[in-house]
Amino acid sequence: MVLSDTVRHSMEQSSWIRRMFEEGNILKERYGEGNVFDLTLGNPIMEPPAEFCQELKRIVENPVQGMHRYMSNAGYTSTRKAVADYLSVESGVAIDQNDIIMSCGAAGGLNVVLKTILNPGDEVVIFAPYFAEYIHYIHNHNGIVKVVSTDEQFVPRLGELANAINLKTKAVIVNSPNNPSGAVYNSDFIIALGKLLGKKSLESGSPISLISDEAYRYIVYDGLQCPHVWPHYKQSFVVNSYSKDLALPGERIGYIAVHPELEQHDEIMAGLIFCNRVLGYVNAPALMQNVIRALQGVTVSIDEYLRKRDLIYDNLTSIGYKVIKPQGAFYLFPESPLKDDVAFVKELSQHRVLVVPGSGFGYPGYFRISYCVNDSTLEGSLEGFRKIAQKYQSG
Ligand code: PLP
Repeated sequence: MVLSDTVRHSMEQSSWIRRMFEEGNILKERYGEGNVFDLTLGNPIMEPPAEFCQELKRIVENPVQGMHRYMSNAGYTSTRKAVADYLSVESGVAIDQNDIIMSCGAAGGLNVVLKTILNPGDEVVIFAPYFAEYIHYIHNHNGIVKVVSTDEQFVPRLGELANAINLKTKAVIVNSPNNPSGAVYNSDFIIALGKLLGKKSLESGSPISLISDEAYRYIVYDGLQCPHVWPHYKQSFVVNSYSKDLALPGERIGYIAVHPELEQHDEIMAGLIFCNRVLGYVNAPALMQNVIRALQGVTVSIDEYLRKRDLIYDNLTSIGYKVIKPQGAFYLFPESPLKDDVAFVKELSQHRVLVVPGSGFGYPGYFRISYCVNDSTLEGSLEGFRKIAQKYQSG
């Protein structure tokens, strides 16, 4: 057998999102693209903002010698400085380019952080519902996944976290705005989390790292802002990406930013740079590093996502679906009308509407809608949602 047993096993367990995507392709072939309403993938429908195209054009038309060569594995100093300057102002914690490493998206950044800090058998806490890839990323680096629950608003239960932490706990991953729930953690929560991790680190005699996955940081609604973790916890790694807010997921560009007072700061930075190299990323794409340098603070139209959120939220709630209104990201995570979320998703696909079962996020009984799609896809899906709701409401 050529395929490794571990990979075979992981693939069998793996991503519902991809599975539904494949299912969607089969349906599209059968019924035609316009007759299938695919709400599975977090692949933004929007094009990058005009500023991105202008900057890309400017750079391509004014080539600088060596701009396509290898560089320091941490990335261009000028790009890292631009990111650091922006984050310093925004977070109120002064950092510089020595706290930043450019990465191949948030996925690359998370893998680099985990490889840098995990010893085999170290535990990493995640909160359900979670971004399913975390499981693989933690396993990639021989870590053990510990799942802790969230409350009715999808905010992590800190009492449960306190009980889950032990001498093997190396890190906790938080993701706000959250995929799949859309929850945004407020500063009271971040302050309490920082206090708890500080106390537990002191008790165990070794720091527990907080890894803050902020891939959706700038996609927030209703006047909210996503609070920074740095002012409340020093042992923290921020991982971010331009995939979602600049609509560049295919370009693989993001960064890791560490707190300037992280324990063993310089060794950790050297470790991150080394891991970026030996994981085979080598460095984040040169052209994209050159482009995003000038795009700090630029995003796609968040109002457009807000409009889509309201369109799908208002329609589904009026049909009778129960759902917490998401405050950020571009997902809706309603309760499944059937207890068995996988059965519900299968039945919905017979109406040519594709969503992902909550089981894929460690949260059965719910399902995820990705609303970063055309309005026609959202509107077209409503009939299928309505038919199933009617069947189970009257049945
Ligand atoms: N983290 C979360 C919560 C995500 O939803 C995603 C992508 O969907 C990623 C990380 C990875 O994003 P990327 O590697 O494209 O930056």
